[in-house]
Amino acid sequence: SPIIQLDNLCYRYPNTEHNALNGINLVVDKGSFVGFTGPTGAGKTTLIKSLNGIVPHFVGGTLTGLVLLNGKATTSLTTAEIGRMVGTVLDDPEAQIICLDVEQELAFGLENYGVPPAEMEQRMKEALACVGIAHLFGRSTAALSGGQKQRLAIAAVLAMRPEVLILDEPTSELDPLGSEEVFRVLKQLQVEHGMTILVTEQKTDLLARYCDQLIILREGEVVLSGTPRQVFQHP
Ligand code: ADP
Ligand code: ADP
Repeated sequence: SPIIQLDNLCYRYPNTEHNALNGINLVVDKGSFVGFTGPTGAGKTTLIKSLNGIVPHFVGGTLTGLVLLNGKATTSLTTAEIGRMVGTVLDDPEAQIICLDVEQELAFGLENYGVPPAEMEQRMKEALACVGIAHLFGRSTAALSGGQKQRLAIAAVLAMRPEVLILDEPTSELDPLGSEEVFRVLKQLQVEHGMTILVTEQKTDLLARYCDQLIILREGEVVLSGTPRQVFQHP
């Protein structure tokens, strides 16, 4: 059953002359792994941000069409309600990491949700282990590498156990081995925990090996969509 539906979604940033998203239709089934790719400026980041309400709420501009989460229009949901369903990892780990140490970074969102301390500890350790950085639990965030920050940003969102995990270029700071590892973690979350995964990625080959549905965007429109096999067989 669909967990996300986009119905003729259009978005134009303030003071611009073209739609960044221009009539996007999309159905994402619960538990699926959807990959978005396309050239810079295609609208990938804007699409990701429209799924969790960032675009209409914080940027202004003009949004038309519908985004449905579990059948409900995002315009009828509060930011907190959207946040409980959808966890988003943006592509700037420097900006996303706000606390001085790894433990605080993980605890921040959980405290806001009123998760009891004993459960917090377990969720934090599980989330770090999931992205392969369990050993960094007590570290200062300033001392982490770009790749470690990227993993921490993912762990912090995982600890919240969202139904849908959305990631914008989660491997931009990682080497090929690290990139593969992140995708393996995402696949495991899909297969073992039934999580729905949406991810943008410039490394199309990597993306195609892990996603069930591959979507190619260009100039704000879906130009190809299907299984990786279908997309690559297209003339
Ligand atoms: P991608 O993630 O595929 O590189 P983006 O979603 O960042 O694409 O951008 C889509 C289009 O929207 C581009 O034409 C970009 O220049 C424009 N855009 C993105 N962010 C803004 C913004 N804050 N203000 C105005 N235009 C923007
Ligand atoms: P990405 O390629 O990962 O989408 P960009 O480098 O395009 O990232 O954008 C980085 C930041 O600049 C984003 O916050 C985006 O909203 C903003 N931005 C992108 N294009 C424009 C634009 N034409 N005008 C204003 N801001 C923009």
